[in-house]
Amino acid sequence: MSPHLSENRRTLKNRSLRKRAVVSACLLGFRCRYDGVVREYDIRRILRAKGYIIVSVCPEMEIGLGVPRRPIRIIAKGKHILLIQKSTGARLKRRLEGFSVNFLKKLKRVDLFILKSRSPSCGNGDCKVFRNLRDEDIAGYSDGIFAKMCKEIFPDVPVFNEENFIRRLSESIN
Ligand code: SF4
Repeated sequence: MSPHLSENRRTLKNRSLRKRAVVSACLLGFRCRYDGVVREYDIRRILRAKGYIIVSVCPEMEIGLGVPRRPIRIIAKGKHILLIQKSTGARLKRRLEGFSVNFLKKLKRVDLFILKSRSPSCGNGDCKVFRNLRDEDIAGYSDGIFAKMCKEIFPDVPVFNEENFIRRLSESIN
């Protein structure tokens, strides 16, 4: 085996041993928020310092929603949860679930999720669930659609939002 090939294999092996964090892309400074605003948190630096490979994802961009885009919201209809774009009435839950399953099942390894708080896609238990499209009547709070799939497919992997990750875990994750 040539030294070059052997080195490549070592590099690949080392890469496969490194921990991986899936992170909402808007937390990493990508312009993908619904309002087009760019925000970057101190997450990339912390994860890199701890040796993580970062996998960024914006589920709403991945299903074809642009930037800026009309907001979407989760609506509770009886026992069912819907994901609807308020201004167009477009129903997006199946598309978002389909993308999420495909994306997550392709990942060979995930050690950590850091997902944007309060998002109807990425929110981790803190996403508003509305009673209808028209007003601000809140039925409760839940996971966003993508976050829910993360928990179903990787039930043992911790899920944080940007606030509790930076506040409580930057020192303790290793
Ligand atoms: S919260 Fe999720 S879906 Fe919304 S902009 Fe960020 S990465 Fe995209």
